[in-house]
Amino acid sequence: MTQFVQFLGRGRSGAKSCERPGPLALHPLARAAFAETGKPLSPAQVSGSQRFLLGGLSAPITVTWEITAACNLRCVHCLSSSGKRRPRELTTDQALALVDELAEMQVFQIHFGGGEPFLYPGIWRVLERCRERDLVMCVSTNGTLITSERARRLAALEPIYFQVSLDGATPETNDRIRGQGAFQRALRGLERLAAANLSLTVNSVLTRYSFPELDRLYAIARNFNAKLRVTRLRPSGRGRAVWAELHPTREQYRDFVAWLREHPDVLTADSFFHLNAFGERLAGLDMCGAATATCCICPEGEVYPCAFFQAPEFEAGNLHEQSFREIWQRSPVFAFYRQMGAGACSGCLRYDLCHGGCPATKWFVLQSLQGRDPECVLADSPTHPLAAKQETPYGAITAAVRCSSVTSQDGACQEEA
Ligand code: SF4
Ligand code: SF4
Repeated sequence: MTQFVQFLGRGRSGAKSCERPGPLALHPLARAAFAETGKPLSPAQVSGSQRFLLGGLSAPITVTWEITAACNLRCVHCLSSSGKRRPRELTTDQALALVDELAEMQVFQIHFGGGEPFLYPGIWRVLERCRERDLVMCVSTNGTLITSERARRLAALEPIYFQVSLDGATPETNDRIRGQGAFQRALRGLERLAAANLSLTVNSVLTRYSFPELDRLYAIARNFNAKLRVTRLRPSGRGRAVWAELHPTREQYRDFVAWLREHPDVLTADSFFHLNAFGERLAGLDMCGAATATCCICPEGEVYPCAFFQAPEFEAGNLHEQSFREIWQRSPVFAFYRQMGAGACSGCLRYDLCHGGCPATKWFVLQSLQGRDPECVLADSPTHPLAAKQETPYGAITAAVRCSSVTSQDGACQEEA
């Protein structure tokens, strides 16, 4: 039987209210956004990974757990706007109970992030509990707090995998994003983890500035006996403010696909599937796995479809009020997400390859889930079946609800004021 995560100062009333979830529980913005995507897709209409994941799994394969918002860096593209610890972060006891619940649900892997996970006071106990419960652990770290002693202690927790972030192969490129001195400090962290023989990945967010340094990043990773993992920049958190300046150009993306072909050992976290629309399928999942195969738990117990979808209107539930199992299995946000239609992408000849791209990117750039991926590689193609369609930055219904949901008592729309 599932053990409920026990939280201080909260009864089960929150859990009870979840027993009959319905559309009313959905934020009006989210409801309108889902409705705009049109008819839910049926298994007969889809192919590839989507056929298996449509409707979601009984438990996620991987859970991303941003265990604290505390961070000693202030990266300009931070997806969760991390910096300071937040007031209602889960206590260590709550975190341990959550590990037990995830293990009982047979979640395969927990991917710890933040913030900087090594600033969470109970991190060692949480990692040790994962080890006891045979959960595969992956820790994303900025690498700057790894001492030799910590690296040796971590080696006792194997199997455990590490991702150390480098957003450029030079101090100039990396530090303009991650802050002065971050490059050298991350390299020292990598050295210490490598010296303890830990399984390592160098994680790099692709930007128009880091693109020319891919070969050098690859060499740095090899130097530490690590794999290189390149991921897509999303406009969430602080990334919203810099996305337009940093995201790669279409030409870079085209060259990147060729570069990946020449470097088959480079991982991509399945994050570039929108590039499949160039015509050649990249290895890995070819669709968004949010709410079906993965989801994200945030420091104060908020659960979202994925780490890049931290918008309050898409909060699926909160662990201060409900168990994780309840949220995963009964949240209206997840139920709707799993049935989303193809929106403006229906009819696209490349839909089977691209599946409409990343919903989180659409939401934060367009405030709509109905449009094409803002980095749709066919957007300007004159022969593209959707090229003539006009897209407004806000879908009509979403705009109306957006306005009414933020209307103040005197009737003025605060959003527009
Ligand atoms: S129109 Fe949609 S499905 Fe087609 S390539 Fe663009 S984002 Fe992908
Ligand atoms: S919403 Fe975007 S970032 Fe999140 S899992 Fe889906 S494709 Fe990936």
